[in-house]
Amino acid sequence: MAHIMTVQGEIDATELGFTLPHEHIMVDFAGAETAGPHRYNRDEVVATMRPFVEELVAAGVKSFVECSPMYLARDVQVLRTLAEQTGMQFITNTGQYKEPYLPQETFQISAEELAAQWIDEWVNGIDGTDIRPGFIKTAVFPDPLAVTQVKVMTAAAIASRETGLTIGTHTCKAVPALQIIRLLESRQVDPAKWIFIHAHQEEDFDLLRMVAAAGCWIELDGLGSASDAAILTPLLKLLDAGFQRQVLLSHDAGWYTVGKPGGGTPRPYTHLTSTFIPLLRQFGVDDETIRVLTVENPARAFAIG
Ligand SMILES: [Zn+2]
Repeated sequence: MAHIMTVQGEIDATELGFTLPHEHIMVDFAGAETAGPHRYNRDEVVATMRPFVEELVAAGVKSFVECSPMYLARDVQVLRTLAEQTGMQFITNTGQYKEPYLPQETFQISAEELAAQWIDEWVNGIDGTDIRPGFIKTAVFPDPLAVTQVKVMTAAAIASRETGLTIGTHTCKAVPALQIIRLLESRQVDPAKWIFIHAHQEEDFDLLRMVAAAGCWIELDGLGSASDAAILTPLLKLLDAGFQRQVLLSHDAGWYTVGKPGGGTPRPYTHLTSTFIPLLRQFGVDDETIRVLTVENPARAFAIG
């Protein structure tokens, strides 16, 4: 039986339920050398974000994949408190983002040493807690992979092989996506263990289909900020082409912005349930397909092993 790691421990994949596979509770864009828990108050973050999470729980959402990586205000204690207060199942991550959100050390150590740090979080917990990551989050630029990105993705491949965790990469375009898939395959990582994040930003559908054909997850995660058409058009084409078991839908919304008074103006996470699913029905997408997209696919995407 497949399992998924939440901030409250391991659950059966069948317990995941309706899931948002890419959202944020908190982000800090100050940079790796500046960001840290000294820059915010945990109680204030929880109090600010709790109503947004409660709104989701009321809409029937059971699980929330929090995609803020280390050095961008990943705070597993905030997530566990929100989980305890609202009943939402949160999934957090290990891994690192891209420049300028990488610490100096990342440029100096090897991919193997980087992977060892992430594997340590999987084995021993994050930031001195017993909370373990449920996936590996990385990021690349929308261009051919630079040297540092190759190192970070190689580390992700090593850590995925060791832990069984899926990798999600902020990618945006098909060119780096295809390079990442080749890199992963060269390290014996199945493309089914990789999520192409922000895939709706690839406007050339032929290229998008080429990436999908490699077997990875295609995440259309601009709901509520991109136009509905910008998500609906590639989604309907992907469904038409038979890729319904590889598509993930989310908002990339939230979040408490560290450094802004009161955390700024978080965006709600409800466009999918309130607007986009009714729109899908209008376009003839049946309930079973909607269940596959929102329940079954996340459960398979984040299954460990
Ligand atoms: Zn994001």
